[in-house]
Amino acid sequence: MKYALVTGGSRGIGRAICLKLSEMGYPVLINYQSNKEAAEETKRQIEVNGGKAELLAFNVSSIEDVDNVLSKWMENNPEDYIAILINNAGIRKDTMMVFMKNQQWEDVINTNLNGFFYVTRRLLKDMITKRYGRIINIVSLSGLKGLPGQTNYSAAKAAVIGATKALAQEVSSRKITVNAVAPGFIITDMTKELDEKTLKNLIPVRRFGQPEEVAELVGFLASDKAGYITGEVVSINGGM
Ligand code: NAP
Repeated sequence: MKYALVTGGSRGIGRAICLKLSEMGYPVLINYQSNKEAAEETKRQIEVNGGKAELLAFNVSSIEDVDNVLSKWMENNPEDYIAILINNAGIRKDTMMVFMKNQQWEDVINTNLNGFFYVTRRLLKDMITKRYGRIINIVSLSGLKGLPGQTNYSAAKAAVIGATKALAQEVSSRKITVNAVAPGFIITDMTKELDEKTLKNLIPVRRFGQPEEVAELVGFLASDKAGYITGEVVSINGGM
């Protein structure tokens, strides 16, 4: 059976993507780092709608954690494989570069960039052997445009965009597509301290986006219908 894994599926955009992929018929593996309660809530919502879900706790920025948990899942599910991977787990630690601590730089690179590498590399072999896969990386407007106060985050997201384009070409002959989705301001815990009233004036459609709007786009890219789209970065930002 084909499974979908969503990193950072406990909250925000990741939760909406879990629900969407479940609605499309995939059993969903909900990854989270520490917020088990939120991950349980995502699972509950999937099950209420008649879907199937499992929690998979690991820290995407820890190579040991990623390899241990994913290897164990593969051992326990020899007939199944993860065909849909959504690299969504992310953090930001904003500050101007002149004040940025090593830790703030490293944490953001480790989670947003190295996490993408550790998880994707672990799952690629199965997708290649089975000759089917969908990899969707949640990046950001910040990685396309660069945003002040986010040199660490912009660098990590821009790097994932480069890797998306390179990997797409490595695996396209095996019917694996690799794309990135770049949201602008979306209403989640990550943006809850931002001043929406002021910031929405920068957005042509004059509002923040909803996680479900991002999930619809991810759902399309994860579907069979999107087999001819690969190596792309699709923006979803209200016209910014
Ligand atoms: P969020 O509400 O803060 O949720 C973050 C999710 O990532 C949580 O599920 C969290 O798990 C998980 N996570 C964080 N670090 C992790 C780690 N080391 N290992 C495993 N899971 C980890 O964030 P969001 O707004 O939904 O953002 C989702 C993605 O969209 C991120 O990549 C973000 O950069 C990107 N994005 C967001 C916006 C926006 O406006 N919201 C805009 C552009 C791009 P726990 O619940 O266990 O903490």
